[in-house]
Amino acid sequence: MKANNYENIIAGPCSVESRDQFLLTVGQLRALGINNIRGGVWKPRTKPGGFEGLGEKAFDFIEEAKISDSMFCEVANAKQLEIALSHGVKGIWIGARTTVDPFAVQEVADGLREAGCKDLIVGVKNPVCPDLDLWEGAIQRIQNACIPMENIIAIFRGFKTYSNSKYRNEPIWRIPLELKSRMPELKMYIDPSHIAGKRVYVEEILNVAFNVYDYDGAIVECHCNPNEAWTDAKQQLEPKELVEMLDRVHAKVVEENSSTSEQKLKHFRDEIDEIDNDIINCLAKRLQVSKEIGKCKSESHMKVYQKDRWQEVINKVAAKARDLGIDEDYLLDIWEIIHEKSIEEQK
Ligand code: PEP
Ligand code: MN
Repeated sequence: MKANNYENIIAGPCSVESRDQFLLTVGQLRALGINNIRGGVWKPRTKPGGFEGLGEKAFDFIEEAKISDSMFCEVANAKQLEIALSHGVKGIWIGARTTVDPFAVQEVADGLREAGCKDLIVGVKNPVCPDLDLWEGAIQRIQNACIPMENIIAIFRGFKTYSNSKYRNEPIWRIPLELKSRMPELKMYIDPSHIAGKRVYVEEILNVAFNVYDYDGAIVECHCNPNEAWTDAKQQLEPKELVEMLDRVHAKVVEENSSTSEQKLKHFRDEIDEIDNDIINCLAKRLQVSKEIGKCKSESHMKVYQKDRWQEVINKVAAKARDLGIDEDYLLDIWEIIHEKSIEEQK
């Protein structure tokens, strides 16, 4: 983290809910020195029936708090953008459910161009699924429209996966890392709230983002009374909790270098452990399917070893290796072992 003056922190409620909730939360944040405020005005809910945001009415409270020029909210279409701009917001962001849709991103990008925005800060969250090209493409659309790179922020909020995870959205750290290597000028912000899903995990995500990967800033959900929040109650922090956390995370950076390296090492080892776990689960699944294939072959009196099929498999592995820039022989050696075991099981 650069410095603990909170300039690179955007905090505020998941949703603007009511006058009292918003004014109290903003008052607490500002008293603690956090001036960039977030607040959901239109809420994209995965399922119908939940609170979908106050819509334009939220700006009554934003204006009453006199913070329009330090306000950030999510927009998903041209109309929402127009309303947000008409109230003079400092920034908008494109949410994870919108980044997956190039039509919607282009609509927002066209709106930005038509409004002649240049100074507006535009955040682009990663798409819900781990698709780097969609994320990069959305950023390019915003850039091509009119927003200079220095005003674009990539926001990493984790990915929806079906792996067992203690987090709500899996932080596959290498994907934002690859984005940064494709776009070195891009500012990277972490959204630890939507990764964590539970407030107890927010600090460890902030720590990794700032102390392992050197993120430029964070957007964090804060609420004056988190347990009573209408959306994302489990992951929101009280403003005081957030600054205490940020100060601890910052203190870690200024500790001597060796402990930072130890922290990095631990993080990468944890990541390797998780990957190993995934590999083992996949191998177990593969063996199970192999057994089923064995049964089918025996029922139809086929030989266990099918030369053509094996050739097809290794061709695919070799092509994938070339695609990803991995040593082909290395992968083929591993597949030899996998295949041998598979034949053995089928016998
Ligand atoms: C949000 O920031 O409140 C939100 C809905 O986030 P995401 O798009 O990351 O799910
Ligand atoms: Mn939220």
